[in-house]
Amino acid sequence: MGTDMGFRKGFAALLLLLAALPAKAQFRVFACEPEWAALVRELVPEADVTTATTYLQDPHYIEARPSLIAAVRRADIAVCTGASLEAGWLPMLLQRASNPAIQPGRPGLFFAADHARLHAPHDHVDRSMGDVHPEGNPHVHLAPDELPEIAGALAKRLTELEPEAAAAILGRYIRWRGDWNRLRAQWQESGEALEGQSVVVQHSSFSYLLRWLGVETAVDLEPKPGMPPSASHLSRLLTEPLLKEAAAILIASHQDRQPAEWLAERTGLPVIVVPGTVTGKAPADSLGGLITTIVSRLETTVSGASDGVL
Ligand SMILES: [Zn+2]
Repeated sequence: MGTDMGFRKGFAALLLLLAALPAKAQFRVFACEPEWAALVRELVPEADVTTATTYLQDPHYIEARPSLIAAVRRADIAVCTGASLEAGWLPMLLQRASNPAIQPGRPGLFFAADHARLHAPHDHVDRSMGDVHPEGNPHVHLAPDELPEIAGALAKRLTELEPEAAAAILGRYIRWRGDWNRLRAQWQESGEALEGQSVVVQHSSFSYLLRWLGVETAVDLEPKPGMPPSASHLSRLLTEPLLKEAAAILIASHQDRQPAEWLAERTGLPVIVVPGTVTGKAPADSLGGLITTIVSRLETTVSGASDGVL
């Protein structure tokens, strides 16, 4: 009896102790842009992810709000584009959050652009100064051939930070990679109708995908990369011979539609507005779905045909 009582007391004490122990903290992620939040969720669905920007915002220019500083402070990893895309706001966030795990050179700060071959190393210019980003075009999330490399590096980094979840993360990466390869083959097939076409753009947001599809950039509504379209630049574009070759004007949801509409009125070109990054809504709620959406819209408008697959 005494022994039994002792056992019960001990057992009750053990239960109390277990209840008092904090549960394993949820893995917390700070993503600079929605595309990386979506990729993290594919690899670690249970992660608590805070995203600094939405597809309706220009990722080059956001405010270092107190809520974002707090999110960086409590995060286990920050996943960003890098290549100076966030140069205007991320350094300040990192400094104010002063999270020792999330600092340049630490495993807690992951830059996608570090794992990609960047195009056009000298044509990405900041709006305020027109200064050159020597790393190249950072809008690499729409590069079908670079994403597997980036996702692989991210998966590896996540397993280093969450070793107990390593097998699950790698398993999900392998599945993601298979899905991506299948989608890439579909884009390639749909893109055949687009090859050799050209479009008017506003900024280099879609450059990687257009180049991959073999679609030329006729002209850019921006006078210089990162500078908003001006009236004088738009007037000058009307006399640009390459404009005659263009099949459409392609802009992102976060961009001002007025310059595109101004040009459309004078040229009769259709305007295609697509999200520049993943949205909260299917099918553009994943990177693969986003690219499928963009390719499909281009195909429908530019080649005037859709095979109904996308
Ligand atoms: Zn840019």
